[in-house]
Amino acid sequence: MGARLRSVRERLGQAARAAGRTEDSVTLLAVSKGHEAARLRALAQLGVEHFGESYLQEALPKLDSLGGLELCWHFIGQLQANKTRAVAERFAWVHGVDRPRIAERLGAQRPLLAPPLNVCVQVKLESDATKGGASAAGARALVAAIASLPRLRLRGLMCMLPEGLDAAAQRARFSAVRELYDELKAEGAGLDTLSMGMSGDFEAAIAAGSTMVRIGTALFGARADPPGADPASAGTT
Ligand SMILES: *Cc1c(COP(=O)(O)O)cnc(C)c1O
Repeated sequence: MGARLRSVRERLGQAARAAGRTEDSVTLLAVSKGHEAARLRALAQLGVEHFGESYLQEALPKLDSLGGLELCWHFIGQLQANKTRAVAERFAWVHGVDRPRIAERLGAQRPLLAPPLNVCVQVKLESDATKGGASAAGARALVAAIASLPRLRLRGLMCMLPEGLDAAAQRARFSAVRELYDELKAEGAGLDTLSMGMSGDFEAAIAAGSTMVRIGTALFGARADPPGADPASAGTT
């Protein structure tokens, strides 16, 4: 686990420096779905603070058992309306908000005593048939809607690429999302987070300006399929 973490940090640092940025301009989010709490604890002891989970049922017992650690929990899965309450109550971040209804529910359900819930809007490029994500126009409307919800704090955009693209195609897609991010910022949205890049494409994402990479396999090794998941789409549902 330590060796994998070192290797990921090294690659992350190299990619950042190659883009003229510092290593600490990119936050490492450890995607821990499919792995036992003990392995998360081991990574936390090595200094990892941010953990991402995709399946609520799997995540909640882990949040409970690691509750004594100062960790920051990110919900990165597809969020159904009937699951928003637990996410609003237990997580610090949600990546992947792609509909107004989900944003409204999260905003209404975020406990008053908790700090505002950090939110990234998920964007899907027209060319890609990936699951989830708003169009550029949809993302623009969502950004405006979220800004009016006081219990949510809009942080930025998130995207997920289809598998099997070469580095140039990855880079082109990440750059398109970066352009939308820059446009929204120029229009006054106070954004500071571009959540893009996974084990297979994080270097291209950093080259295009990612500030947060979501890495599972490269940190933990292969994971078991979640209960009831279609193996062909594991990780995207
Ligand atoms: C599973 C998952 C990841 C991590 O994928 P790896 O390829 O294992 O690094 C990142 N983001 C999201 C949204 C995921 O569902």
